[in-house]
Amino acid sequence: MLKNVIAPIQAWLMSQGKCVGCGLPLNKAEKKTHKYGKQISCKCGRIYIYNSKTKNYRRALLEEI
Ligand SMILES: [Zn+2]
Repeated sequence: MLKNVIAPIQAWLMSQGKCVGCGLPLNKAEKKTHKYGKQISCKCGRIYIYNSKTKNYRRALLEEI
């Protein structure tokens, strides 16, 4: 049940370009080139993929890290 509440908040944070864990702006996090765009490693250990075509952030899948 808790997931139903958290998922929209996380989606909103990511649409704002912020980490879902610590709220830090992802454009200030460490970036490296990734086959789908940019891989972003937040200070709190969460990994995101930035898609430069759609300009969207999403959580990286385990197999992408
Ligand atoms: Zn973070």
